[in-house]
Amino acid sequence: MYAVITCRHWRLITFAPRYIAQFRLDYLSVHSTITALDYTHHRGDEPNIMKIRIDDKECSFQRGQTIYQVAREHGITIPVLCHHEQLKPAGACRVCVVEVVGARSLVVSCATPAEDGMIVFSDTERVRKARKLVVELLLSQGKHNCLTCEANGDCVLQDLAYSLGIERPRFTEPAQEKALEQANPMIVRDMNKCILCGLCVRACNELQVNQVLDYAYRGPRATVGPAFHQTYETSSCVFCGECVRVCPVGALYEQQGRFKGRAGDLHKTTTVCPYCGVGCTLELNVRNGRLIKITTARESAGPPNYGSLCVKGRFGYDFLQHADRLTKPLVRRDGKLIAVDWEQACRMVADRLREVIQRSGPDAVAGLASARCTNEENYLFQKFMRSVIGTNNVDHCARLCHASTVAGLAASFGSGAMTNSIADLAESDCFLVTGSNTTETHPVIGTIIKRGVIHRGARLIVIDPRGIELCRFATLHLQQRPGTDIVWINGMLNVIINEGLCNEAFIHERTENFEAVNKAVQTYTPDYVEQVTGIPRDKLVHAARLYASAKAASILYAMGITQHTTGTAAVKSLANLALATGHIGRPGTGINPLRGQNNVQGACDMGCLPDLLPGYQRVDNSELRGRFEKAWATTLPSQPGRTLPRMLEDIQRGTIKALLIMGENPLLSDPDLNHVEAVFKKLELLVVMDIFLNETARCAHVVLPAAAWAEKDGTYTNTERRVQRVRRAVAPPGEALPDTEILVRLADSMGRPWPSASPAAIMQEINAVVPSYRGITYDRIEREGLHWPCPTEDHPGTPILHASGFTRGKGLFTVTEYQPAAEEPDDQYPLVLTTGRILYQYHTATMSRRSLGLVSRTPEPFVEVSSEDAAALDISDGAPIRITSRRGSVTARAAVNNRCSRGVVFMPFHYAEAAANRLTNAALDPVANIPEYKVCAVRIEKAAV
Ligand code: SF4
Repeated sequence: MYAVITCRHWRLITFAPRYIAQFRLDYLSVHSTITALDYTHHRGDEPNIMKIRIDDKECSFQRGQTIYQVAREHGITIPVLCHHEQLKPAGACRVCVVEVVGARSLVVSCATPAEDGMIVFSDTERVRKARKLVVELLLSQGKHNCLTCEANGDCVLQDLAYSLGIERPRFTEPAQEKALEQANPMIVRDMNKCILCGLCVRACNELQVNQVLDYAYRGPRATVGPAFHQTYETSSCVFCGECVRVCPVGALYEQQGRFKGRAGDLHKTTTVCPYCGVGCTLELNVRNGRLIKITTARESAGPPNYGSLCVKGRFGYDFLQHADRLTKPLVRRDGKLIAVDWEQACRMVADRLREVIQRSGPDAVAGLASARCTNEENYLFQKFMRSVIGTNNVDHCARLCHASTVAGLAASFGSGAMTNSIADLAESDCFLVTGSNTTETHPVIGTIIKRGVIHRGARLIVIDPRGIELCRFATLHLQQRPGTDIVWINGMLNVIINEGLCNEAFIHERTENFEAVNKAVQTYTPDYVEQVTGIPRDKLVHAARLYASAKAASILYAMGITQHTTGTAAVKSLANLALATGHIGRPGTGINPLRGQNNVQGACDMGCLPDLLPGYQRVDNSELRGRFEKAWATTLPSQPGRTLPRMLEDIQRGTIKALLIMGENPLLSDPDLNHVEAVFKKLELLVVMDIFLNETARCAHVVLPAAAWAEKDGTYTNTERRVQRVRRAVAPPGEALPDTEILVRLADSMGRPWPSASPAAIMQEINAVVPSYRGITYDRIEREGLHWPCPTEDHPGTPILHASGFTRGKGLFTVTEYQPAAEEPDDQYPLVLTTGRILYQYHTATMSRRSLGLVSRTPEPFVEVSSEDAAALDISDGAPIRITSRRGSVTARAAVNNRCSRGVVFMPFHYAEAAANRLTNAALDPVANIPEYKVCAVRIEKAAV
């Protein structure tokens, strides 16, 4: 028989009755102490400097700090188990008890506030005795076999038992062993080792706000896990792995790393996640040259993610050692790709490039740099195109995701980047999220938004055609028809102006052209907005009031706004909203475009754009161009080159004959794929540098094997303009090389020998020619990245742009008018298709579909269809359906739900076998040349299995 001791914070602690007497003697008084001592009252005569004495040390502190925090700050070690610096104090395990003079019993230091004059003893005989009992009881709760435990050497309980000299616990273990729960390839649960500290439950709810884990049962059956009798696999768990990170024992651990290495065997290298633009910091754990697992520091982790990751960052690493990795250069002979050595491959590339240039000039060659590669690689790539080939025909996939952001924000503010930092979102009391499925595409930023809503009461306005996960946390969800963004944005401005909610002083002092916009938005009344967008007028008015009257409101958006023929205008409209309300240039405000890929910001910064040299310096400005000509000792082309979509037109026309691609996969990512495939067949030379033989590489004449992110040094610049170090932890497979080394070999073969440039040396060159990167040296970002602009080596970086003035001087209001999407539904194609990403896959899925864990969650393509449309077409959930546009047709399974409203269907674009881009429309925004991925007309019908 067992008894339950229900402590205030730890409601599940259960012990057999024979241990209760001992527990009472040594311990129970601790609990009464917590409630008896009230140190939280505020005294009017409180001194300026408050001090407590811990052991022999006098320690100053600030009101609100706990005894544990004060001790830690002053280098005094108090052991903790259930405590975590990012979570609210729980005071559950009682390992951190201390003696306080005047207190009747021992005090829980992690949950007891320090008080001026308090005298504390952290390591007395009485304290050690109490701690020892706690640890012995915890050991008796389960089976703690350290021999094969994954946490051996990195286990808080093991360390405590050792430091307290517990050779053999006094109390016996339970007789029965619980089965391991390991039905997925990511997380293993061993409940034999669980000590019910509750850290996983609190991390899941407080930090990630996923609300999946909870306590269950009482007495000897007490446990933690997904609520409602679910498993990880059947619950709404998103496998962020935060529970694994905070587990202080070996109860939760990484499945694929099992039996491959424990703490003492593994070498950790700190680097940056290779997936999305959040740029999370993580640790590569390597043994014998192989990546075993990814971890983040359990505590004291730094920005931008402070130890949190999403499923891709934590578990999506195994593509690195996949058997499909390219290991040797390949050249096409008799229609087949044949392995050759580097010299032959480079010679073939150089000979054919020279031949094209001699025949048709340098502009017959074009290059696509990569948002996946480092700044140093991108810098060298555009330098190769401009100084070795002699063309400005260089672009990359920013053209397809945020070109309209760069153009729109540069016009409105003078700088085309995220205005505020990620950490700064914690200062917002209102979030306006539009065109961003943040919890799936930028999950760690999604958690910050959720935390703001749940813990600080921030308001959340979601404006999205789909009922995305964030809607669950939203004050308002406005569900607009795809392609009508300018209407609701102008409508919000209409309400803000007409209800007198503008920030008049800000408009007067810091902006220009307000009157023209005021006049233009008068026609966008709430009734008109409802008619065009489907957003009820009252909801629009409510949203406008919430946004305008917030103290600090932040706009976050992504490709739902940018990937339209009116993308640039929509971005300028959002800028108008911020300018009218003064929600810019202050903490918690701003216009925050969430960049999709890990280094898309850096690839733009490095000048992988046809009209801009590194640092956004125009190629057609002779003075700016002259600086690069001097630095590179050459003459550079002066006319802007072709954007990616215009390159395709020129290939079709026959004026571009050779294309170099570094780490991109346009034959899955570009719109209207059937057309793009036909265009690529016209190329005389296609060279692809990549880590896998992706859809584009399969069509190449030459394939050059590249090193992946964990195999090279360099830097990435994340969505918040933070430049961070990327570090090599393992060697590339076979003969694969970092792209910098490939480019040096190619330049050499072209008769332009470059010194073998190390990433550090390339960064020094970047420091010299890019003013906003001048102060960002490897030494300075060794521990933590810096935000550009950082013009000097003693500049602290700039987390918030436009604080005292806009980069262009005054913020520019721009008149924007609604134009319907290029293709609207009709009788033949009655539905609107919108496309995007999902949590478990990434871009063209070359990496994520080679990761066991990620594939296990989303193995196949699907089409989201509203239940009304499905019923009308007699389509059931999971049934195969054919989806057809004017450009192509694909088959996938129907996911019938109500995330999309009637008339709208959604497809992720990751899956080659049902490529959404066979359907999408290549119509372009005239300013930024971004295609309209987010709206095209389709029809759906039942398909054969
Ligand atoms: Fe990686 Fe983005 Fe996930 Fe962070 S949020 S772990 S950067 S994919």
